[in-house]
Amino acid sequence: MIRTNNISFSYTEYEKTEELESDDRELVIAAREAALNAYAPYSNFKVGAAIRLETGIIVKGANVENAAFPSGICAERSALSNSISNHPEDKPVALAIAAMTEEGLTDDFPAPCGNCRQVIAEEESRTGNKIKIILAGKNKTQIIDGISCLLPLQFKGKNLKINLP
Ligand SMILES: [Zn+2]
Repeated sequence: MIRTNNISFSYTEYEKTEELESDDRELVIAAREAALNAYAPYSNFKVGAAIRLETGIIVKGANVENAAFPSGICAERSALSNSISNHPEDKPVALAIAAMTEEGLTDDFPAPCGNCRQVIAEEESRTGNKIKIILAGKNKTQIIDGISCLLPLQFKGKNLKINLP
C-alpha cells in the first residue's frame, strides 16, 4: 500500500518584542546582548543565542568565526556547548536567537542552520525536554514549539525514535 503523508506545524508570530511574555522577552534581550560579543570578521553577521535552563539560569553564546571556515561555530551551538559543559543536569527549555549586521538588528528571523538544528534535536533527545525556539527579528518574533517543527524526520541514531511534529 502506498500512502502520502503530510507534515506541518504551527508557530506564533509577535509583531513587537514588547508583546512577548516577560521570560521570552528577557531571553531575546540576552540573545541580542550575546550577538554583540560575536567574533564575525568574515561575514559581519553577528548572531547571539540565549538558552533558558529549567532552573532559570540563562546561558549565552555567540558565533565565533575562523580564517579556516569550518573551524568556526554558530551562536546556537556555542550556547549549547556552554550549557552542556557548565550545567549538564539542567535542561534547556527555551532558546532565543538574534542577529545583527553593521546596520543593527536584522528584520529577518534568524533561523538556525541545519547543523544547529541537528544539535538542538540531540539536546532535546538527551534531556527528554522540548526546547521552545524563539526567532527574534528587530521587531517581529516567531515562537516555535520544539525542534521537530524545524527538523522533521530527524536522524537520531539506531536506538532513538523519530518524533513527528
Ligand atoms: Zn548553525
